[in-house]
Amino acid sequence: MSNKAVSLSQIELSLGRGPARVHVLRGISLDVERGEAVGLVGPSGSGKSTLLTVMAGLERPDTGRVTIAGTDLSGLDEDGLARFRGRNIGIVFQAFHLVPTMTALENVALPLELAGAPDPHGRAAAELEAVGLGHRLRHYPAQLSGGEQQRVAIARALAPDPAILVADEPTGNLDEATGRQIVDLLFGLKRDRGATLVLVTHDPGLARLCDRTVRLRAGRIEAPAEA
Ligand code: ADP
Ligand code: MG
Repeated sequence: MSNKAVSLSQIELSLGRGPARVHVLRGISLDVERGEAVGLVGPSGSGKSTLLTVMAGLERPDTGRVTIAGTDLSGLDEDGLARFRGRNIGIVFQAFHLVPTMTALENVALPLELAGAPDPHGRAAAELEAVGLGHRLRHYPAQLSGGEQQRVAIARALAPDPAILVADEPTGNLDEATGRQIVDLLFGLKRDRGATLVLVTHDPGLARLCDRTVRLRAGRIEAPAEA
């Protein structure tokens, strides 16, 4: 059994058509150990978000191999990939992406229902308790602050107990104090549950908390700076 949560091998990906075509990822190889926190940093347009979507199984590379918790994603068809993602990959975006017509509880229960997990509402309530929102179960996203919405999104991502949690600038839409609370929450989950985190961030404070940072430039991983 592999101890790697993520293994990327020689990933190449171009996006867009015609003159808008961009060779976004140019030979990315990267391993993430279970329980590790990796910060993805680099200038805007360097391919961080795209790499995260590949890692999350949302986008297939043109060439190269994506292995998550020992499963080669290229061996899965679209349905299989969607099922695998729902059980094994938690995704958190800068803009929360909650379903506006569902309560906090329903949002968190949704992936559990899709995965056929027992007692989705009970488990969703426990996940919301764990992120400090036990008193907001019946609120709709519009009735929650930005920080609370991001907590719901994190609870939703973690509810199926995924092998990895990927987050694209999870504090980018939040004020500094609220962003700090979200960071504390994420690293508390890593500590207490052994969650594997891959975080895109511009926040040096957040990057410093990671076990390791990986710097992208123009679709390639830069060699680490001398310590
Ligand atoms: P980052 O998150 O590091 O800012 P992105 O991964 O969003 O960078 O984008 C990397 C590069 O790929 C950018 O130059 C962007 O314009 C380009 N790109 C991203 N998505 C597409 C797309 N669907 N079509 C064409 N180009 C794209
Ligand atoms: Mg981005």
